[in-house]
This record gives sequence, structure tokens and C-alpha cells, in this order.
Amino acid sequence: MNILILGSGGREHTFAWKIAQSKKLTNLFVAPGNAGTAKIATNVEISVTDFPAIKKLVLAENIEMVVVGPEDPLVQGVHDFFLKDDELKNIPVIGPEKKGAILEGSKEFAKEFMARHNVPTAAYQSFTSESLEAGYAFLETLNPPYVLKADGLAAGKGVLILDDIEEAKAELKSMLVDAKFGNASAKVVIEEFLSGIELSVFVLTDGKNYITLPTAKDYKRIGEGDTGLNTGGMGAISPVPFADATFMQKIEDRIVKPTIEGFQKDEIPYKGFVFIGLIKVGEEPYVIEYNVRMGDPETEVVLPRVKNDMVELLQATANGTLNTIKLDLDDRTATTIVAVSGGYPEAYEKGKVITGFENVEDSIVFHAGTQLKDDEVVSSGGRVLAVTSFGNDFKEALKTSYKSMEKIAFDKMNYRKDLGFDL
Ligand code: AMP
Repeated sequence: MNILILGSGGREHTFAWKIAQSKKLTNLFVAPGNAGTAKIATNVEISVTDFPAIKKLVLAENIEMVVVGPEDPLVQGVHDFFLKDDELKNIPVIGPEKKGAILEGSKEFAKEFMARHNVPTAAYQSFTSESLEAGYAFLETLNPPYVLKADGLAAGKGVLILDDIEEAKAELKSMLVDAKFGNASAKVVIEEFLSGIELSVFVLTDGKNYITLPTAKDYKRIGEGDTGLNTGGMGAISPVPFADATFMQKIEDRIVKPTIEGFQKDEIPYKGFVFIGLIKVGEEPYVIEYNVRMGDPETEVVLPRVKNDMVELLQATANGTLNTIKLDLDDRTATTIVAVSGGYPEAYEKGKVITGFENVEDSIVFHAGTQLKDDEVVSSGGRVLAVTSFGNDFKEALKTSYKSMEKIAFDKMNYRKDLGFDL
């Protein structure tokens, strides 16, 4: 089978790494890919949202399946584009159609979906510039901190959590009236603050049947002790040690099942991954958000623990036969640590030569923002690479990841040294 992966991050390198192990694979393409995917697949310099260029590639290379990494092409309707095209409509796309992708594309839609299907989540109301005064009044009814969310995609920056009510009102106005996040904040969801510890669960569904993949916990802040600015993710651990069997059963019964049944009730066609962001409040799980793709860096710890043939899993997803698949997991803990460019998530320099890959023995290095330049691997993004290791527990796995990380170097390289500090 010839497969195309869309994307260029650590998530996509992990997908490529896992798919490349399948006996069902013939040729693997990644668009646009990175220096890591270049070693195991053919990179094609195409943007993930350039649908006509993707079509040309798919036809030219006889691609038989497309796996979509990031949310943008899904929210922009790449799956629908395939279904509407006579030459592409029989080529399966892993990732929901627009009607499903809106779960990530609109926070208000996601909240309404959860309300309709009794999925536990924070109480909320949504507002537009016309209802600004009502928004102020709603804020007055809440206790601090105040959670304001731009309705649309805002590159992970659209959520503000504020302690002061006057500041919350000013930010609400800035989002609604002054388009702080552009059109994404034309509508704002204000919700109750939930206090607890976060984790994520990943589900692969064919729209009817589903497989619950391992849980993961990621570390979003740049600074140690979860301080400083938010990033795309500085590391992840799977499984999450505090998610015991009783808690997982609650997630299954109250969240995963109603979500998949909700797709059917609402006639949302969904073939792909659902990433459910959760918060554990006391002993109870609540949904913070849905994403319509895998997480990054969570993929770097979740997929290495899956022992099944990846192509078989994806084919069953496309064919609606996930009920025939039994998930086979590696019971060990996987951890990944992300190395970033100095300065990230603010301004940083690119083009730094990365050395030491060949000295890493006990870990898998997934590339994120890297590219090949004159036979050298250089940095090309904020998050540069992720080092994944296994262990009998997260401490053991992390120790190996840190040991491996010390063998890799580039100018102004930075990574968090305290992952797992809160576990
Ligand atoms: P989101 O983009 O919806 O995942 O929100 C970004 C981050 O804001 C989450 O990962 C949480 O850390 C935090 N957050 C979002 N909603 C809430 C909430 N209702 N209560 C507490 N924290 C929240």
C-alpha cells in the first residue's frame, strides 16, 4: 500500500516511523515532512492545506491512503475535498470530515455537542460583540479565575485564564470588539474554572466502533514547575500513573462512549483520531476540549506503545471494521522530552546544526522542526526534536530520555529537566 502523511512535526515523524514498520506498506510519502521523515519516507515539499497540489501528488504516486497529522487541513475540509472529487473519492482519508473537524474548529460547537450528549464539562456561555454586556454580567456570576476561550482556531493561544475580573472584562472586550485573535475571537466561550490535574485520552474510531488508545500527560509550559509561557508541548508521559482502572472506566462510560454515540446521533461522519483533553477534579473526569487529531508530543509516547500493525489499524478505521481489532499494548511507560530552540516560544534562531544522533542508543529520536541542509540536520522550528524512551515506570523512562538527550547538541538548545515533577 502507498501511504501519504500530511504534516511535518514530531507527530508525523512518529506516524511515519510506525507505518514504516508495517508489512503492508509499499511506499511512504510525507508532505512536507522533516529531516527525520526524509530518512524513512519520501518528503514532498507541499503545504498541508494546498489541496490541488495534494491531489496531483496522490494521483501521480498512486497513493492509497492519506493520514492527516494536524488540524488545519481537517478544519479546512481536506477529507470533504477527497469525497467530492471523482478521482479521489475512493481513497481513504484518516481524519474527520469538516462536520467532525468543527469539534476542534469551534469551542462553542464542542460545548454544545457535550451538552447534547451529557458529556461532563465546565459550565459555560458564549458571547459575541453584540452581547458584550451580557458577557460582563456572566463574568460577575463566576468565581475567579475566569476562563475566556476564543471560539475558533487561534494556534493554541486562544485561551486566557485571568484572576482579576476587571482584567477579564477588558480581555473579553479586546477579543470580541478589537479582534484580539482575529476572526477566531468573534465569538468567545466563557466557562467555569475547573481545578485539577490534566491528562488526555486518545480514541481511534471508524465512526461507530472505537479503540481507546493509551492515556498521556503533556507538559505545556516552557519553564520548570509549569511556569512561563505556553508552548506546543515540552514532553509527555504515557500511561498517566494517576489514571487507575476505576477512573479509566469513568472516562470510558461517561466520555468516550457518549462521544462516539454522539457522532452517530448527530450524523457526524468520523474516521480518525479523537484527542480528548481531560481534567481530573477530585475523582471525576471532565472534558476540557476535543481535538480531531493526535497530540504532539503525545503521539511520540502513545504510538510507540501500540504493538499492532499501524496500517491494519488505519485500514480498519477506513473500512468501518475496528470492532475486529484487538489492541495490543506495550505495558511499559513511555516518556518523551522535547528539545526546543533557545528563546522559544518567543523569538528564536533557526538553522543550528544538530549533532550526536548517532550516539543515542536506548531512545528513539523523533524529529520535529528539522531539515536537511548539505547533508547536515539543522533546526527549522521552535520545537526541534523529541526523545522517547521506555521504562518500567515514568522515572526510569525519563532517566533514559535525559541520558540520551545529553548526547544531542545544538546551539542554544533548551529542554525541561523536571518532567514528571507533579506525579
Ligand atoms: P484548551 O485550548 O481548551 O485546551 O485550553 C487550554 C488550557 O487552558 C487547557 O489545557 C487547560 O490547562 C486550561 N483550561 C481550559 N479550560 C479550563 C477550565 N475550564 N478550567 C481550568 N483550566 C482550563
